[in-house]
Amino acid sequence: MKIPQKNKDLIRYVRFCDARRIVGYLLWIALLIGGALSYNHNHQTYPDYRRMVGWRMGLWVLIAIVSGFFLFRIWKFFTDRTLSGTVISSTLSRSYTASETPGEKTDYDFRLNTALKLCTDQGKRRRIRFEQKAGFYQYYHEDSHVVRLHGLPFPVNTDPNAPHGYVCSVCGNHHKQLPDRCQCCDHSIIDPKDLQEL
Ligand SMILES: [Zn+2]
Repeated sequence: MKIPQKNKDLIRYVRFCDARRIVGYLLWIALLIGGALSYNHNHQTYPDYRRMVGWRMGLWVLIAIVSGFFLFRIWKFFTDRTLSGTVISSTLSRSYTASETPGEKTDYDFRLNTALKLCTDQGKRRRIRFEQKAGFYQYYHEDSHVVRLHGLPFPVNTDPNAPHGYVCSVCGNHHKQLPDRCQCCDHSIIDPKDLQEL
C-alpha cells in the first residue's frame, strides 16, 4: 500500500525525509573517516600506536557506522514500514514535560501518547505508538481499520465516516471536513476512500 497519487506533496515529503536521513548518515561517516585520515596526515611522524591505523582505524569506522545508525535513526527504515490492520486495543496516556522557560503562560507541555495494538491484514500482531498533538481517542477506537504509511507518523482511519473527521498524517491534526490542505502544516490530507481502493 502506498501514498495515493493524489497526495503528491506527501510522496515528496516522505522521499525528502528518507533522502535527508541517508545523506546525513553518509556525511557523518565521511566526516569521521575524513577526520581520522586528516589526523594521520598531520601526524605522519607519530608512531603507529598514536595514529589511526590498523585495527584502530577499523574500530573507528565501526563506531562511525554504528553511531550514525542511531543518530540518524536509520533503523526506522526497517521498523517504520507501512502497516494496515484492525485496532485491537487503543490506549491513551498523558504526560507532561516542564517548559524550558518556567513562569510562562504554559508551564507544561501536554502530550497525549497513543498506543495501538493492531491485527494486520496479514494476521500478525503489531504495536504502534505516536503522540497526538490534538487528537481524539474515538478516531483510533477499537475495531477501526487503520493504515499507517511509511514515513508518515499518524495512521489514517480508512472509514470515511470515522468520528472526528480526517487526520493529517504528518502533524496529527484533525479536521471535521475533508480539506484540501492541513490548516496547521499545509500538507495535503489523505482521503480515506483512496486507501480503501488500494
Ligand atoms: Zn498537518
